[in-house]
Amino acid sequence: MEKVVIIGSGPAGLTAAIYTARAALEPLVVAGLQPGGQLTTTSIVENWPGSGPEGIDGNELMQKMRAQAEHMGARFHEGRVIKVERNGSGSLTVHFDEGQIQTKTILIATGASAITLPLPAKDKLMGYGLSTCAVCDGFFYRGKKVAVVGGGDSAMEESHYLAKLAAEVTLIHRRDAFRASKTMQERVVANPKIRIIYNTEVVDTRADAQGLTGIVMTNFVTKETSELPVDGLFMAIGHIPNTSFVRGLVDMDEKGYIFVKDGTYTNVPGIFAAGDVEDQLYRQAITASGRGCQAALQVERFIDGIGH
Ligand SMILES: Cc1cc2nc3c(=O)[nH]c(=O)nc-3n(C[C@H](O)[C@H](O)[C@H](O)COP(=O)(O)OP(=O)(O)OC[C@H]3O[C@@H](n4cnc5c(N)ncnc54)[C@H](O)[C@@H]3O)c2cc1C
Repeated sequence: MEKVVIIGSGPAGLTAAIYTARAALEPLVVAGLQPGGQLTTTSIVENWPGSGPEGIDGNELMQKMRAQAEHMGARFHEGRVIKVERNGSGSLTVHFDEGQIQTKTILIATGASAITLPLPAKDKLMGYGLSTCAVCDGFFYRGKKVAVVGGGDSAMEESHYLAKLAAEVTLIHRRDAFRASKTMQERVVANPKIRIIYNTEVVDTRADAQGLTGIVMTNFVTKETSELPVDGLFMAIGHIPNTSFVRGLVDMDEKGYIFVKDGTYTNVPGIFAAGDVEDQLYRQAITASGRGCQAALQVERFIDGIGH
């Protein structure tokens, strides 16, 4: 019987691993199909405090976090979780692709994957002009031209945020009206730095050796194709939380984000959630790590019979 199984090895999972290992809980971390999490897909992280003026490579940061967790005694299982069950005794069963394990507590730290456009050069240009996070990457586009794709609250937020940094923001939406809240729409429409293009889809990219130089768009109404020179394209078309393996057991909203209360407690005693999997507002490495720390301390209290 394990004391704690941490599902996910991004900032939330690895921070929780460091804390629970130091509390002698001998955590078992399930790394998942993306060991190190989302930050392994980016180059330089400039907002991780302590990384110095030059920032730190996302992969290097996550390797160091894992090495720190291993040094403290955390164990790792390379694989993914396909199902979690609650047993009559109150213990929990974690099912892997192959095999299963019993545990007293589980921390779900499986993040949320950004939805991206099916652009032909997407993999090559992610981090080199293509982004899914204005707060993460906006700083790199100071004084430059950027486009944002989307029509919901996130697209409005990202456009507004980028308008403070970029020279010009073009917001592109595939329909003729936004689905964002009225207040958010009004803020964007009133911003002189944001130009809006409706009924239009981004279908391709233009690039040079340094990265993105422009986008190709098709208008659904006129069927015309046009090009727009931009240095950055931000895709704000939603995220999918990685929670299918606990659907029906753990309470979540219609998108799949896990509901937490009093910190990181879920509706199931012994199951906790931390990071992007329960936070659709901030979605930052530092906030995910903070929640991982909080979850680790709450797991420890739960095992000691204190708290919920
Ligand atoms: C390109 C890019 C650049 C970014 N840049 C920055 C930045 O500069 N600064 C910043 O603060 N934030 C940045 N972010 C956001 C940041 O990466 C996330 O907020 C953070 O990684 C969330 O951490 P997490 O631990 O909650 O989840 P994640 O990092 O998403 O980790 C989830 C983990 O869960 C695992 N997993 C998923 N499903 C399963 C399963 N079924 N079984 C087992 N394991 C599973 C995955 O393998 C992964 O290890 C960026 C994000 C992206 C995509």
